[in-house]
Amino acid sequence: MADRYPNLIGGEKMDSQEATANINPSNTDDVIGEFAQASRQDVDAAATAAREAFPAWARTTPAERHGILQRASDELVSRKNELGTLLSREEGKTRPEGIAEVTRAGQVLSFFAGECLRLGGELIPSVRPGVSVEVTREPLGVVGVITPWNFPTAIPAWKIAPALACGNTVVFKPAELVPASAWALTEVLHRAGLPAGVLNLVMGQGSVVGSAMADHPDIAAITFTGSVATGQTVAAACVASRPMKKMQLEMGGKNPLVVLDDADLDTAVECAVNGSFFSTGQRCTASSRLIVTDGIYDTFIDALTRRLDGLTVDDALKEGTDIGPVVDQSQLQKDFEYIQIGQSEGATLHWGGQTIERTPPGHYLQPALFTDVNSRMRIAREEIFGPIAAVIRVANYAEALDIANDTQYGLTAGICTTSLKYASDFRRNAQSGLTMVNLPTAGLDYHVPFGGMKDSSYGPREQGRHAVEFYTSLKTSYVRPE
Ligand code: NAD
Repeated sequence: MADRYPNLIGGEKMDSQEATANINPSNTDDVIGEFAQASRQDVDAAATAAREAFPAWARTTPAERHGILQRASDELVSRKNELGTLLSREEGKTRPEGIAEVTRAGQVLSFFAGECLRLGGELIPSVRPGVSVEVTREPLGVVGVITPWNFPTAIPAWKIAPALACGNTVVFKPAELVPASAWALTEVLHRAGLPAGVLNLVMGQGSVVGSAMADHPDIAAITFTGSVATGQTVAAACVASRPMKKMQLEMGGKNPLVVLDDADLDTAVECAVNGSFFSTGQRCTASSRLIVTDGIYDTFIDALTRRLDGLTVDDALKEGTDIGPVVDQSQLQKDFEYIQIGQSEGATLHWGGQTIERTPPGHYLQPALFTDVNSRMRIAREEIFGPIAAVIRVANYAEALDIANDTQYGLTAGICTTSLKYASDFRRNAQSGLTMVNLPTAGLDYHVPFGGMKDSSYGPREQGRHAVEFYTSLKTSYVRPE
């Protein structure tokens, strides 16, 4: 019998009538646990607990908040192997990737522990005699945190940590597929000293739990990461709710990696393999379009193919695995549909794209590399979110830049080149929130802003010191001493 994990509301473990099994995608016979499915009433209880906890939490000293976040960071880092293994077991990224993600979450908590001590305001002389103006950052109240499945520890950490650091309380709804990592993170934060009601975990369906959060009157703001379609639904609900909610949406990508004739071949191949296929291609920052100039095209494709031949797709927890399974059956099905769409559109399936049968069974897919792709094809336009890359051949840098920008998305964009001229031009003119020169499109620092342009992001940036823009509201106070 698998262990049962309840919701955590107002500091109490609250079970629910319904629970779902959390299945290991590397071995679908392995049930990680049974996780509670919250109802609208549970969301109401969580929002009430967070509202009631807010005044006292907002008045805690920066040192108290710092201490809690730092202790939680220390615990995550000291348990990185255990929690990283749990993460990989439920999400399917390789164990080294899982451990790195838990470490990253620890670093994020530590960074925001420091931010508690650095939050400040401004004192500005007024244009009126004898008056001064104080600009302070005030917490928003209850923040709703809605997260996707592909970074089950890091994304919740980089939303919850700044929310708490700024004096907000939180209702947290993780993605359906990854409740175990969410449960572990919530438990670690409570053990670090978080008072009851400051962080409430409600697990379950987006259409029930997420939607109840988006229109709950006690929730002041929603920070969301997920697909564009869900983001638009959340945004509409935030605007329709009373009071209207502040919102921050981080959404999809169709990120280009440009490879120019003068690129260092090894660098370009490593950037492509890492960006397109590691973490099973299930990253919003994945390089799903490889835009390659004529002069290097054949050499690059040959070298990339040889590199793909040497990759091992297997159980995420097995040593030596380079690429773990796809997260679940429905994502595998979606990946497959796009492989068929690519072929029917006239692209060439140059390498991979077949499912792999294993015992015990899992959702294994050989990474797929498409060539002869053009920018109008659906495989070059729509986010697939799997280990599938589309190669587009171009004549020169100017055409590469045009195609890189020919997308509704604008999260990250990379270029491999040894030319300072092209690198500088790309950095300036790529329509994306992040640009990478001779680096994979995925893989980011935790102390600098993260977010995109166009349909990839809406609202202020996440991470780094800019995160306070979302988690606080500016208050301008005019003071005349007598
Ligand atoms: P998703 O949009 O299906 O779900 C995201 C979250 O929203 C989940 O917790 C889900 O339960 C919830 N949700 C679903 N319906 C809802 C509703 N009606 N109201 C409120 N919440 C609802 O996304 P996913 O499949 O979990 O994640 C993959 C997507 O996330 C991809 O598009 C990927 O690019 C994106 N992503 C973006 C970033 C980024 O920072 N830009 C990072 C990681 C993932």
